[in-house]
Amino acid sequence: MENRHYLIGTAGHVDHGKTELIRALTGIETDRLKEEKKRGISIELGFAHLTLPSGREVGIVDVPGHERFVRQMLAGATGMDGVLLVIAADEGIMPQTREHLDILNLLGVTKGVVVINKIDLVDQEWLDLIQEEIREVLAETIFANAPLYLVSAQTGVGIPELKIGIDRLLENAESKTANGPIRLPIDRVFSIQGFGTVVTGTLHNGTINIGQEVAVEPGHRFTKVRSLQVHNQNVESAKAGQRVAINLAGINTDEVEKGKVIITPGAYPVGNILDLRLKNLVSMDKPIIHRQRVRFHIGTTEALGRIHLLEHEELPPGQEGYAQILLEEPVVGAAQDRFVLRFYSPAYTIGG
Ligand code: GDP
Ligand code: MG
Repeated sequence: MENRHYLIGTAGHVDHGKTELIRALTGIETDRLKEEKKRGISIELGFAHLTLPSGREVGIVDVPGHERFVRQMLAGATGMDGVLLVIAADEGIMPQTREHLDILNLLGVTKGVVVINKIDLVDQEWLDLIQEEIREVLAETIFANAPLYLVSAQTGVGIPELKIGIDRLLENAESKTANGPIRLPIDRVFSIQGFGTVVTGTLHNGTINIGQEVAVEPGHRFTKVRSLQVHNQNVESAKAGQRVAINLAGINTDEVEKGKVIITPGAYPVGNILDLRLKNLVSMDKPIIHRQRVRFHIGTTEALGRIHLLEHEELPPGQEGYAQILLEEPVVGAAQDRFVLRFYSPAYTIGG
């Protein structure tokens, strides 16, 4: 039995078929608007899961929309084992495909497969041409040597082969995260009548068990895991890579919120001054300026702060440099963490 579960995400231009592909792979509808109407609030929205031919369990994170791509990727980034880059055969590589490639690169997500979708819409000649063009563009990216699958999410052509491809991708994934302290960035909080406070999120590290003492940080709020659910089933324990709902003992919904992190007490630093290395995205057309106000994103956490460039007064697009950030509130962060800074929507800067 595998010691851990795997987590992958989707990337790609809007309408290229990411949600449809997840449905074809898993039978699960991840689209919030469509699904919320049908089954009401669920912890699983935006997430699907699947058992691969090898028996490996993999969770798939859908991307709800372009604006939320960076945040979603970031929330899963430390636990993400790979990405399905979806490109529609009729349109090929589009601006958001390129931007996602840029972001994945900076977030350190290096494993993935390329899925050319909607092959039912094109003829063989076009398919050959578009494949050549895609290979050319990808040659400069983390997907340079990635396997490429031709599918139609709508008709199901190529889906079994893609499942085998995902299995292969995960064969080589590092199995690093099931051990060590737990870390779960909270993405939702709600209360269930007669049951108490429930938080959900993706477990980035460690194994969480019923009865375990945990801390909600920042805030040093100590509590215990009363019960656990994975895929709407009660479980005794959950592993890194799994999406989990945790019933916390003796805590009210107003004491815990999205953006806080559940950790093994004392296992990760909590603070509001961080030393970082920044890269200003090429696709951003403005420099980062010394003492500029920024919005800091890490995991599911957001905090306002001020950036202090340590080497120059300005960091132009495409350049890297060291900086210190002073946040208005503390965050949980460890060495090697990836984060995003936002200046003016929709521009991002990513560093680690
Ligand atoms: P997303 O924005 O990337 O999540 O794209 P969706 O999954 O919502 O798909 C966008 C549109 O393309 C929808 O109308 C889908 O039904 C359609 N679509 C997705 N996959 C295929 C496919 O393989 N073939 C065809 N013909 N249409 C598809
Ligand atoms: Mg979608």
